[in-house]
Amino acid sequence: MKAWRFHAFGDLRLDDVPEPTAAAGHVLVEPICVQPSVTEAQLAQGIPTLAYDRVKRRLETEAPLQLFGHEFCARVLEVGPGVTRVKPGDRVAARAKLPCGQCPLCLSERSTLCRKGPVIGFDLPGCFAERALIPEIALTLVDERISDSEAACLQSLSDSVAAVETAGLQVADTVVIFGQGSMGLECLQIARISGAGRIITVDVRDEALAVSRELGADHALNANAGDVVAAIRDLTEGNGADVVFECAGGSPKQGLAGNRSLLNALDAVRSGGKVIGVSWFGGPLEVNIDYLRERSLRYLFPDISTLGHLEHTVRLVASGRVRLKPTITHVLSGIGAVPRAFEITAQKGKYKAINPAQVMMRG
Ligand SMILES: [Zn+2]
Repeated sequence: MKAWRFHAFGDLRLDDVPEPTAAAGHVLVEPICVQPSVTEAQLAQGIPTLAYDRVKRRLETEAPLQLFGHEFCARVLEVGPGVTRVKPGDRVAARAKLPCGQCPLCLSERSTLCRKGPVIGFDLPGCFAERALIPEIALTLVDERISDSEAACLQSLSDSVAAVETAGLQVADTVVIFGQGSMGLECLQIARISGAGRIITVDVRDEALAVSRELGADHALNANAGDVVAAIRDLTEGNGADVVFECAGGSPKQGLAGNRSLLNALDAVRSGGKVIGVSWFGGPLEVNIDYLRERSLRYLFPDISTLGHLEHTVRLVASGRVRLKPTITHVLSGIGAVPRAFEITAQKGKYKAINPAQVMMRG
């Protein structure tokens, strides 16, 4: 079969590789629609971010290597022994980070806390290939009301569901979301249906702000148009927001906000409020801890998304409570378009992309 393999950072080739066969507890699938995550698109070029050291070590010792491809919609071709939840012909999507099933946490039914299990696309081959072998525990069935394109976004959406759950919203909380890329827009919609009162969103791209308004933001502010923290304080009677989601940080070379959005988030939240750190920064940051301490701030990071979160995303999208179509800006055709999807996703600002670029694998 054909599979995209990394021979080094920035060296992606469509190679012939042996086709996997269905093993116990595993499902052989044909990827229908796949998108690189922003993290994957940056790692593909060797830009330091989440998991950079691990990927670098694997490339140095194991290349050529099938990497990435955990955000997908696929068709089940064959199931291995013991698989009960899916059958050939089903459409499926997956969560990425899996429990190991063997550590004390997993054995005491706290597998959601396990950090020892494999990650699809990082430890296991993902879906930038004609076939992929996926553990059954990763998979959920896709409702027929959800398109292939939308289904490829469910993994990312499940991470956003986990982020909003981590925030523990109270009914009528004022919420600010920095960054209106795909995860920021997802957090907006999930916060809306999870009890948020007023929602204020921030970005520097007018096209993203327009989508944000369409998807329910009460105020969508352009951070380049003035003092955004002052504007948020004006809108919240001088208090600041109850909860702030920081979804914009990261390398400015890729059009992300550096650490400015985090510093703004810490200023825009009220005393005792919560900042939810969704972004990855790719390196250490200097933060004035005394400022957080003095204001009793909670700086929290999202839990890993579980199968329960993923199944919830299916209900949210199938019922129309979360809309993904307005965020899907680039859909490419054929397995040959995969490198182009990485390029667009790594430079979303330049290409005016909101969601990562998708590839319909059969063209
Ligand atoms: Zn475990």
